[in-house]
Amino acid sequence: MEERDFSEIVEEKKEFLDQSFRDSVATIDKQGKRNYIFPKKPKGKFYNLRTVASIIYLIFFFALPFVKIDEEPLFLFNVIQRKFIFFGQVFWPQDFFIFAIGLLTFMVFIIFFTVVFGRVFCGWACPQTIFMEMVFRRIEYWLDGNMTEQRRLKDMPWNVYKIRKRITKMAVFYFISFLIANFFLAYIIGMDEVLAMVKEGVAANPVTFISLLVFSAVFFFVYYWFREQVCIVVCPYGRLQGVLLDKKSIVVAYDYVRGEPRGKIKKEKAGVWDTGDCVDCSACVRVCPTGIDIRNGTQLECVNCTACIDACNAIMDKVSRPRGLIRYESEENIAHSKKTKFNWRIAAYSFVLLLLTSALVVMLLTRDDVDARILRTAGQMFQTLPDGRVSNLYNIKLVNKTRKEIPVTMKLENMKGEITVVQKDLIVPKESYFQTSFFVKIERQLIEKRKTPIELGVYQGDKKIETIKTTFLGPGY
Ligand code: SF4
Ligand code: SF4
Repeated sequence: MEERDFSEIVEEKKEFLDQSFRDSVATIDKQGKRNYIFPKKPKGKFYNLRTVASIIYLIFFFALPFVKIDEEPLFLFNVIQRKFIFFGQVFWPQDFFIFAIGLLTFMVFIIFFTVVFGRVFCGWACPQTIFMEMVFRRIEYWLDGNMTEQRRLKDMPWNVYKIRKRITKMAVFYFISFLIANFFLAYIIGMDEVLAMVKEGVAANPVTFISLLVFSAVFFFVYYWFREQVCIVVCPYGRLQGVLLDKKSIVVAYDYVRGEPRGKIKKEKAGVWDTGDCVDCSACVRVCPTGIDIRNGTQLECVNCTACIDACNAIMDKVSRPRGLIRYESEENIAHSKKTKFNWRIAAYSFVLLLLTSALVVMLLTRDDVDARILRTAGQMFQTLPDGRVSNLYNIKLVNKTRKEIPVTMKLENMKGEITVVQKDLIVPKESYFQTSFFVKIERQLIEKRKTPIELGVYQGDKKIETIKTTFLGPGY
């Protein structure tokens, strides 16, 4: 059968689609005020899977600051002291190039991943979605009841019952926000520091305490009131969807070919439905945390939370039609009524992603423990020693990125000569810098030019850490 053009199929189905959704935003009412969304609590396979994934995610989030390797945290992002630890490896400003490459890799990863798999990250791994939908929203269902009860509570006049409900919710939300802020702080300064500050009390750490209160207030504002607006208005990743997604990207999508023309179930005429599979029940809209109707097509507001998939599957079960009217699918496959299969595009993008990640892992694993910089001391000329040898003075700066002291030695690699360090032992303290001066002494007859190139090897035991090229000044011939 001849394959029809994608746009032709879309055009044909457009007549069934109500385009009026383009005239308004679900979260803004006609007066231009915030339209607060009260989504129905989702139920179903995807919600259960996301619950399990979120529990694992939260366990990691709250447990990782307690995990230590050699008395140091597993992760630390101390921007104040410019100290960063990833998977137990300490990174210094000298490793900035790895950070830059890591950041680039991450961006390419995000772009490729989104092109193929759409906004999977938003629904399954984004901290905003996890905390909002799996922590705060669940607590809200528990405290204020389901969608209808929440709406009723909002519309009722202020009375003791409503005030009690609101104060309880605010207190619980603020407490969790405060907890999250503390753990974020632990990722910045380390859990030991946070616990020490807790022991010392507020009076001993007023600045940190005020910062914590401010951050808690920001989290509280986001989860109590701002909510889905973060994804719609603030998140740069969300704003990029328009350029990252194409018709082959796998997204949460409504199968309009199967679903349209939508309509309430009428009597089956001689085994044939006179409507599509969508029974126009709006169950998918009621569960949507961003208030959109996925039947209008892929929209910027959709965070791929899968709530509408579960809701629609439940309806399909009830009306004895096949599940998957809303599913993870590409727009192109929906237009051609095909199912997503592992294809060359997914394979190629996945291969590039694997390559990038492997390159970064190799860079991290082969990173030097010690960085050495050698410079001839500025303004110093050569000296002729009483024994006839020529001497030059150099400065060496060593950075130890590990958690143990490292003794180092130096050798002249490309010619005979002697190295005399001003300080007797070259021992670089853990996670620190070390700077000293040293003399290189070379026989006069080996110095043929005013500037002789020399190579200095820096060793940790027998292992050469670095070879540094510099010049040696002499009288020349
Ligand atoms: S449209 Fe569906 S997947 Fe997208 S945000 Fe709404 S409920 Fe979640
Ligand atoms: S839940 Fe399914 S059947 Fe109901 S309106 Fe949405 S797409 Fe149509």
